[in-house]
Amino acid sequence: MRYYSVKMRASKEDKHISGGERIVERKALKEVINSLIERPRDFDFLNIKVKLVQKLNYIDRSLKIESYSFPDTHQANAFAVEIIHRYTGIDKVRIENFINLIHIGASDRGDVMRGAMLVDTDGNRLERDRNRGVRTTGVDFEDREKVRSKLIKKGFTDRTLDALAIATKNLNYQDILGEYCISDDPNYQYGYVAVKRSYIRIHPLKEKGNDRGGRIYFVKKEVDLDRLYNYLEEEEFLIRELVEIL
Ligand code: AMP
Repeated sequence: MRYYSVKMRASKEDKHISGGERIVERKALKEVINSLIERPRDFDFLNIKVKLVQKLNYIDRSLKIESYSFPDTHQANAFAVEIIHRYTGIDKVRIENFINLIHIGASDRGDVMRGAMLVDTDGNRLERDRNRGVRTTGVDFEDREKVRSKLIKKGFTDRTLDALAIATKNLNYQDILGEYCISDDPNYQYGYVAVKRSYIRIHPLKEKGNDRGGRIYFVKKEVDLDRLYNYLEEEEFLIRELVEIL
């Protein structure tokens, strides 16, 4: 069967406002393009790219979603740091420093990075470009509507659907040990930490009103950067099953 990757990005006054990405069969193209076009409310530029997928890979199961709530962002982030420390062995103060950078803007200019920061188990930043970071693309659910409706029934959102796909692809790579993520939407206080097999949704991971956000991928120190970038940015994956949520 032939699959196509469909990528949409929209901007207004040169500022990125919306993006979306799908991997679908030929017969679903029209519907998918229509729904992606409807995603941004107001734009002055929108680009849609459709490309035949040359080699499609599969991931059998998504990460398993768990949810935790805390009285404030300090306790929520302390919990996140503890998990990352357990899975990476990185000193907790160092982890906190990287997380703080995400909350204030981790690019060289103190802005939001477009992609993720890379940190190895020695606590070194590895991304090649600190403004761009590394971007995870080329991932979707085989039956997106089924997964979506299950998530929505459980009270999750489309954001969770997209983020779960990204985190599942990331953690499927042997040298990625964990991920930390907060949105750059000032009104959205949910965030997550992903580790092997688990997507741990945490609230409130950032302060209301903060328009900074970002992702950190924690990787083994011996990681081959060329292969890592190629995996995250070039290889295409469909996720077959959502792991049932308790
Ligand atoms: P979002 O989950 O779309 O609110 O994105 C939160 C932050 O994660 C953004 O501000 C970016 O810094 C980063 N980011 C967004 N999309 C990606 C991606 N596909 N790969 C890596 N990092 C991303």
